[in-house]
Amino acid sequence: AGIGETAELLAIQLPSSSSHEELINQARMQMVNVSLGTAVDLAAERRRNAELETEKQVLQTRATTDRLTGLPNRAAFDAFLEAHVRTRLDGTVPRALGLIMVDVDKFKNFNDTYGHATGDEVLRMVGGVLERVTRKGDLSARYGGEEFAVVLPQTNPFGIKTVAERLREAIEQEVLEVDGQKLSVTASFGCACIALFEAPTDGAALIKLADHFLYQAKKKGRNRCECYPRLEFPGRA
Ligand code: GH3
Ligand code: MG
Ligand code: MG
Repeated sequence: AGIGETAELLAIQLPSSSSHEELINQARMQMVNVSLGTAVDLAAERRRNAELETEKQVLQTRATTDRLTGLPNRAAFDAFLEAHVRTRLDGTVPRALGLIMVDVDKFKNFNDTYGHATGDEVLRMVGGVLERVTRKGDLSARYGGEEFAVVLPQTNPFGIKTVAERLREAIEQEVLEVDGQKLSVTASFGCACIALFEAPTDGAALIKLADHFLYQAKKKGRNRCECYPRLEFPGRA
């Protein structure tokens, strides 16, 4: 008695005259099948998870990388700067945070004289120099158009000026060969380095400050670096 019910419970089809032994054997087979099936499902699921993880990374990289230069893009720059401002606001990192804004000099001339493709070459070259010359903890990004930005989480007003000057010289020394012609490029730099952060909007204030000094560098004749000399935002105690 009960064999029929047990067989039904285990989803086993038994001939009407079945022994307990037969039922147990059938049940064992069933168990083996179930665990094999589970193993196969699990492997497939693991594979799918790995695929999704890769896909996620590809999308993440695409969303944070500038196609032309391969540098982090504006979104990545914003996130990096914001994160660093936050660590200063909550006191986890007491270090000064520096920013260099870079703008290629007379870039429109390049495009107009040699064409857009050459302009793109110039941007790739500048991006390559920024990537190469800055340190590992720094972030060099394409800010937009022919403007770049370097965030320096460990610096001081002297250090940032040194880095900017090194970048300026490295760009000036590069030679681009276009249709047998040797072209050189220069860029202007604006720097600011702040030790005291008081509000989440201070990231934007740092950009504005560095941008102001970039404008000074342009006004003073280009191919130069201009730096904010103090460690506190202007107009603050
Ligand atoms: P300044 O020294 O004052 O900075 O002069 P400029 O010519 O560099 O400045 P302006 O802002 O007048 O020109 C920037 C030009 O950059 C205008 C635009 O056509 C060009 N540009 C922006 N993005 C790209 C790009 O992705 N590729 C190329 N080839 N050109 C771009
Ligand atoms: Mg510009
Ligand atoms: Mg420019």
